Amino acid sequence: MDAKLKGSPSFIWRSLWSSLGLLKEGLVQTPINTLDIETKVGALIDEDSNSWKIDLVETIFKEEEAKLICSIPISRSGASDRRIWASLERGNFSIKSAYFLETKLSNRSSGEPSTGGGNNSMWKDLWQLEVPAKAKLLIWKCLSNIRPTKDSLLRENIVESNLCPVCAREKETKVHVLWVCPAVADVWGGETSLFRKWKRFYPDFQQLWGEMTGKLNQESIELVVVLFYHIWARRNAYTFQTQFKNRATIVALAQADLSLLKEINLNSSNRAARSRGRGPSQSW
Ligand SMILES: [Zn+2]
Repeated sequence: MDAKLKGSPSFIWRSLWSSLGLLKEGLVQTPINTLDIETKVGALIDEDSNSWKIDLVETIFKEEEAKLICSIPISRSGASDRRIWASLERGNFSIKSAYFLETKLSNRSSGEPSTGGGNNSMWKDLWQLEVPAKAKLLIWKCLSNIRPTKDSLLRENIVESNLCPVCAREKETKVHVLWVCPAVADVWGGETSLFRKWKRFYPDFQQLWGEMTGKLNQESIELVVVLFYHIWARRNAYTFQTQFKNRATIVALAQADLSLLKEINLNSSNRAARSRGRGPSQSW
């Protein structure tokens, strides 16, 4: 089936199309005969109960389409019609969320195991890592697009320039700070680096992360995550205090973090083993 918007589709269908197009590759043009061509999505929503008018949706759309439409969350504030993107919490469309969704769909349709590119296993990959919580949090924020950079702040009109404050050459995005910036080239491109032959450019952090979780073993990912944390901390220190740690310091800090965590985990598992060894009378 080819998903196409033929002729002059109605407003209602165009509004829903942006949410459904990716979700359902293969939808065919739905004839909407029941409503006027300029009818808006609001006509399908019961304002009192703030829910879809399921009977009406099912009358107009095919069964599968109706099911998809009724699965779209409805704004509680009664906002006026606008196109929403269901993959993001705030409903705004971004290439990243489309990438996530497409990866999810393609993995599902091909039956291949995930490489962490935006589906549930991406989060599972992250939460399973044995790294300090601060590093996990950074990755989570980067993947969720809630870690501000100059580029995101410029889009919100908070800063006047989106140039990376460290290299002052390119716009500062998450993937720029952590991977692309010439200032981190020595961290990733050293003689013995695993990443020496990796691409220098990724369009966004999610794609870089997807590749890392797909290609690296857990231990390497853990080191990368902690390095990311220290690279970001260095960027903050440079931005706010004009200090810049060198590569050796960044790597040493990352390794110290991992060793400390391993030691803490080892001690706590030894404690647990000791308390198990005391027998049932001690366990209370
Ligand atoms: Zn830079």
